[in-house]
Amino acid sequence: MLLEKEREQVVVYCQRMISTGLTVGTSGNISIYNREEGLMAISPSSMDYMVMEPVDVVVQDLDGNVVDSPRRPSSESDLHLICYKNREDINAVVHTHSPNTSTLAILGWELPAVHYNVAYSGGSTIPVAPYRLFGTMELAEVALKTLEGRYGCLLANHGALAAGSGISHAYALAEQMEFCAEIYLKAKAVGEPNVLSEEQIIEVIGKFIAYASQEK
Ligand code: 13P
Ligand code: ZN
Repeated sequence: MLLEKEREQVVVYCQRMISTGLTVGTSGNISIYNREEGLMAISPSSMDYMVMEPVDVVVQDLDGNVVDSPRRPSSESDLHLICYKNREDINAVVHTHSPNTSTLAILGWELPAVHYNVAYSGGSTIPVAPYRLFGTMELAEVALKTLEGRYGCLLANHGALAAGSGISHAYALAEQMEFCAEIYLKAKAVGEPNVLSEEQIIEVIGKFIAYASQEK
């Protein structure tokens, strides 16, 4: 089976996305890009994640041709492919309809640096891409533009997009975005949250890099 390891990981992370409430039903999608092979493994469209198996995960080339799978790729495959085509630092993409990021996205509010974990995104804010119809190249294009210089953004009236150098990075960012959105909304409900400065976030990013290099 082509991209066996990536297909297994797509299943594991899609099931985790459902069991932890990071998305609901068949919404959201996950892909992993194998840069050496020039192939992407992406979750199939509208399939129950809990019955999904590696064979159901679709393998596509960068032109969107389905190379292996009996299933249809996610309707957002252009949203994933556009990241791999334009960003050499991105090898995995997690798209969710997580409730708190989606709440910010319907308000059209960016997520400010209310917690140091916003720095997981590589920037001091998580901005909102303008609304476009789901499953379109227009949505893929506005998302790519909004991701410039960072790994995470919100999609207006839709959800969240987290990218990363690998699936553990992209998935951790999706979780942290949801956590930060939740505490931001809670803080907003009772007062005016204190926001960390650009310098404080740059300091955190530096510490994250040192922290990650110690792990190796
Ligand atoms: P798919 O089931 O086609 O991946 O679509 C889910 C979704 O979130 C669309 O934006
Ligand atoms: Zn969606």
